[in-house]
Amino acid sequence: MTQVTKTYLPDPEKYKRYIDAIFASGWVTNNGPLVRELEARLEAYLGVKHLILVSSGTAALEVAYRVLGLKGEVITTPFSFVATTSSLMANGLAPRFADIDPRSFNIDPERILERISPETSAIVPVHVFGNGCDVEAIGEIARAHGLKVVYDAAHAFGVRCGGKSLLEHGDISTLSFHATKIFHTVEGGALVTDDDELAQKARFFRNFGIQGPESIPALGVNAKMNEFEAAMGLCLLDDMPAILDGRQRVYERYRDALEGVVQMQARRGDCTRNYSHFPVVFESEAVLKRVEAALHAVDVVPRRYFYPSLDTLEYIVPPQPMELSRRLSERILCLPLHDRLDAKIQEKIIATVTSSL
Ligand SMILES: *Cc1c(COP(=O)(O)O)cnc(C)c1O
Repeated sequence: MTQVTKTYLPDPEKYKRYIDAIFASGWVTNNGPLVRELEARLEAYLGVKHLILVSSGTAALEVAYRVLGLKGEVITTPFSFVATTSSLMANGLAPRFADIDPRSFNIDPERILERISPETSAIVPVHVFGNGCDVEAIGEIARAHGLKVVYDAAHAFGVRCGGKSLLEHGDISTLSFHATKIFHTVEGGALVTDDDELAQKARFFRNFGIQGPESIPALGVNAKMNEFEAAMGLCLLDDMPAILDGRQRVYERYRDALEGVVQMQARRGDCTRNYSHFPVVFESEAVLKRVEAALHAVDVVPRRYFYPSLDTLEYIVPPQPMELSRRLSERILCLPLHDRLDAKIQEKIIATVTSSL
């Protein structure tokens, strides 16, 4: 069976050497040496000032909202993974959706403007499938209206735009290092910021708000990454060039075969790609269902990222119908993409998609 993605696992001998070191030291969690090493290496790899590791991408969002002191309403996109919205609500924040640009799949800055109210404290956009948002327009809106910006950059690991990391935009960007993402620590995530004070706050916020043995200045949570997870990240970081090469090969085969056959995401021209997903958009949901059934019949499991559109969640009351996001989410499918996808299987996927249109 070919799934939409396949978790990359490093050389087990290499991972075992890290595990042996953990057993030798007995230090398994609480800001251990491997967590600190991975933070430093990721800061250098991504070209960012501060990177704070946490236990998941969702925890990264929640810590970000808390250290920025968000309250009231937050403008966000309905076209994302559920955690973007549910993390807001779990922290007492009211999501206010702004519809998307159906070509880029990202939140539309014009729609953001229409949603600003006296209660608005922040904007939480998503760089969907690693495609950079209109960070210039969003930054201008935020400055003009005194709003914070947290980018959910769960898909944007390593993406650079105009020569700098996409993660440098906004007050904080968050990453997910879940096993299904291109770089992972089994479960994990990170906050990225260039603000020294926010970085410091995030560091003690992830540890119950404890700053020192006798100082608990903030209301924190437990969002720590452990040493076993950091060891996985250290192994994967060495292998990133090979992982990205493999993904690029698969991505380009899809693109060459399907360009003009199905609708694809319009990408920002000045950004690099990380080949995180291969989304394709069909004419209608009926066509999507036909393609999906045909793929299932040959043991291939694509995923409907993202479906349903988050404005349709039962707990969004009163409803905020988002027409463009709904129309996209009904018609979009992510095809299997990982660094070792077999060329023959990929040909079968391409042939199946093409012949069921
Ligand atoms: C994966 C993902 C998350 C959640 O990350 P976890 O590490 O699974 O908590 C949040 N937002 C987006 C856009 C994601 O794809």
